[in-house]
Amino acid sequence: MRIRILSELHDSGALEKVAEALREIYGEEVKVEFVDKLFDEKFLNSSRGQHNAWLIVQNYKHVRADDEYLLLITLEDLYAAGLNYIFGLAWQGVAIVSTHRLTQEFYGLKPDRELFIERLVKEAVHEIGHLHGLTHCPDKRCVMAFSNWIGDTDYKSYRLCSRCERKLKLLKSKT
Ligand SMILES: [Zn+2]
Ligand SMILES: [Zn+2]
Repeated sequence: MRIRILSELHDSGALEKVAEALREIYGEEVKVEFVDKLFDEKFLNSSRGQHNAWLIVQNYKHVRADDEYLLLITLEDLYAAGLNYIFGLAWQGVAIVSTHRLTQEFYGLKPDRELFIERLVKEAVHEIGHLHGLTHCPDKRCVMAFSNWIGDTDYKSYRLCSRCERKLKLLKSKT
């Protein structure tokens, strides 16, 4: 399998870091393509001002090739049923990550580019982990730990814990 990223974030420095981390963790080829807009307003819930991540991911199912995992990186804020917001979502070969809540500015703080890139890397590695079949991990330092808020993302590392690493090897040997 290879990983294809379609990114609304036109920041080649940040995307190179994301690609580098994905290659390191998953040992797969990573290709980045920059796009202007990933989806239109039909996915917008105007009363929430957020886009429905489930519908977007399902809509991209036909775009994905059989031998690739597709990762969408959007600037828009996302939600899923039952949650006020989500950082990302993964389903059957397609994942999406939103940069909207990854900046310090969003929380009324001073911009911090390094921190933003770290957060984006972690969220991307997390969602690609789901695409490989990994589930949420109780180890709060593991990248597969669920992020309830940005503090959880900052606390975890961008790497898999040894348990998830073993599980990934097993999952990859089956495909
Ligand atoms: Zn998750
Ligand atoms: Zn883990």
